[in-house]
Amino acid sequence: CVCSGTLSADTLEKTNKHPCYSADAHHKYARMHLPVAPGCNVQCNYCNRKFDCVNESRPGVTSEVLTPALASDKFVWVKGEIEHLSVVGIAGPGDALADWPSTKQTIENIKAIDQTITFCLSTNGLLLPKYASEIVALGIRHVTVTVNTLDPAIGAKIYKFVSYQGKHYVGSQAAELLLVNQLAGIEYLVQHGVLVKINIVMIKGINDRDIPAVVKKVKALGVFVTNIMPLIPAPGSAFEHLPQTSMKELNALRDVCQLDIHQMRHCQQCRADAIGLLHEDRSQEFRMCNHVPDG
Ligand code: SF4
Ligand code: SF4
Repeated sequence: CVCSGTLSADTLEKTNKHPCYSADAHHKYARMHLPVAPGCNVQCNYCNRKFDCVNESRPGVTSEVLTPALASDKFVWVKGEIEHLSVVGIAGPGDALADWPSTKQTIENIKAIDQTITFCLSTNGLLLPKYASEIVALGIRHVTVTVNTLDPAIGAKIYKFVSYQGKHYVGSQAAELLLVNQLAGIEYLVQHGVLVKINIVMIKGINDRDIPAVVKKVKALGVFVTNIMPLIPAPGSAFEHLPQTSMKELNALRDVCQLDIHQMRHCQQCRADAIGLLHEDRSQEFRMCNHVPDG
């Protein structure tokens, strides 16, 4: 049972072994992202999801998309090779909740093989009101939600469209719908013992001034940490001509927001199929097309 608004001893123990949530853990414990969720219901102007083999490292990039069955095989393979594998995350390459049946099946399969693994998800939050109770019931205690702004007028510049319950939304209406669902979902998760991390993409001249307000709002909802990340202008995305956010500006904003809530500063903006310690990427070594099953 999870007590409302409090973290269980089990969740705290898992957090100490989670390289993204614990700065001490990231030198020791490894994570693997399983790319089982290619679909997305939002189009962010900074995103260009790609499924290719180029040596590129950023969110949304993967060399393969796996079925839940292949994901289990990959987990067994990697677990046999990497001693301190503590976390399995679903981070796309699209949205973990937009492909929820696949995400859920993958987690159930791995839970049946290994009860010690910590699971995490990252999502845009649009479908959290629909799936948050299932997330809690599955035993997932680490969820990352990307919240870029509280202002629908700013959101209209960041999101090209939102697709929800069979309808297509654009402009500030799309941004407002996304925000309402994100905030409701975050509140539910926190109240049910989930550690929520908020990712924020800092896009200079677009949402940078609104970010301290985002941080204050999510702090009031009880999130654990915020992770302000630089815009990486992805080739082929609508923001490809914007400048990459400088580390100097990023750290200055983190310093301001640190006064409100702990700031994650070691995020590597990993690929959707990243494997290994946070500062390494062994995704190419563990591609399923290279895997020869035992026996
Ligand atoms: Fe890309 Fe994620 Fe935005 Fe979907 S929600 S468009 S996968 S960044
Ligand atoms: Fe952790 Fe950041 Fe990599 Fe996600 S993208 S696994 S939060 S380091």
